[in-house]
Amino acid sequence: MKIAQVVCQILRIPNITAKTASSQDSVLVRVRTDDGLEGVGEADSSPEVVKAIIDAPFSHNIACGLRQLLVGENPLDHERLWQKMYRRTMYFGRTAVGITAMSAVDMALWDLKGKAFGQPIHRLLGGKRHDRVRGYASILFGRDGKETADIARRWVKAGYTAVKFGWEPMGTSEAVDIDLVRGAREGLGDATLLIDAGCVYDARTALRRAHAFAEYKPEWFEEPLHEADIDGYVWLRDRSPLPIAAGEGECGRESFRPLIDRKALDVYQVDISRCGFTDASYIRARVEEIGARLCNHCYTSPLTVAASIHWLSTCRDAFLFEDCVEDSPLRHDLTHEKVQSVNGWMEVPDRPGLGVTLDEAFVQKYLVAESK
Ligand SMILES: [Mg+2]
Repeated sequence: MKIAQVVCQILRIPNITAKTASSQDSVLVRVRTDDGLEGVGEADSSPEVVKAIIDAPFSHNIACGLRQLLVGENPLDHERLWQKMYRRTMYFGRTAVGITAMSAVDMALWDLKGKAFGQPIHRLLGGKRHDRVRGYASILFGRDGKETADIARRWVKAGYTAVKFGWEPMGTSEAVDIDLVRGAREGLGDATLLIDAGCVYDARTALRRAHAFAEYKPEWFEEPLHEADIDGYVWLRDRSPLPIAAGEGECGRESFRPLIDRKALDVYQVDISRCGFTDASYIRARVEEIGARLCNHCYTSPLTVAASIHWLSTCRDAFLFEDCVEDSPLRHDLTHEKVQSVNGWMEVPDRPGLGVTLDEAFVQKYLVAESK
């Protein structure tokens, strides 16, 4: 079996709005073999930038586009292919979007491997430890506490026992920030509350907010600091009354390593569309080794949702699953299978590979660019 084709497709919904939600477009990588199998993957990044990394022609030995590195290779060799892609993209890769593009390929290779062996990815990863994981509804804050309370009530009514609110307008002022959290708690009643600050504070202000928010009992305080402020996270985690979660922006093992080595976090949030299964397996092993907790990050299409639940189900302490409830056709209709929590629980699919199939009519409707 050999890789015959690497197709890259960009889908985008009309009327994109200026909000921090990556479910408005998607870049799909479809790896096809000479014997007719296909694996599908997705990256959470700027789709056109990922596509350029897939499509780029040969420049020199360590500056190659991914497609030409993959065609003719055995798709089951995903570990070797990860190393090959890493080495041969060193001049523009190694971090950020270079790894993210590799992750979309890696997700597709694992989907393909699952289909080739007739096994779900959680089994290829070593076996699931959970048949289902408690989903939390992941959504943005309202404009103020009152609107946030209304949003909270909506998702509790929909059956969720945990809800996360994130990003703007948090960080506007102490009064606004506390009003948002108070509103969230008011609307949730006894349900689990998670707060995602969206990288708006310096460490001292974050500590002050952690003390102020503690009264409303959030389960964690997510990304209070800039993603690169590792010293700040180490300092904050030592002092915060709330558990600190972060990691969603990290791309691959090299990016996670300093956070893990320095025990900077309580909860490590891993996005499979930025790490692939290959590096997510490494991160899982390292985080479990230091006794910290793992969660998925996922704000894109059902492909990454399915990838996330396969991986998270293999983690020892899978206590919550990020279930994005942003209202986007990409989130709801890209695949024939609905991958969303039911009564607040996310089931682990047992079908081969990712266990989801693309709705080709939907793909054609929202397709804005394609290369092969
Ligand atoms: Mg977040």
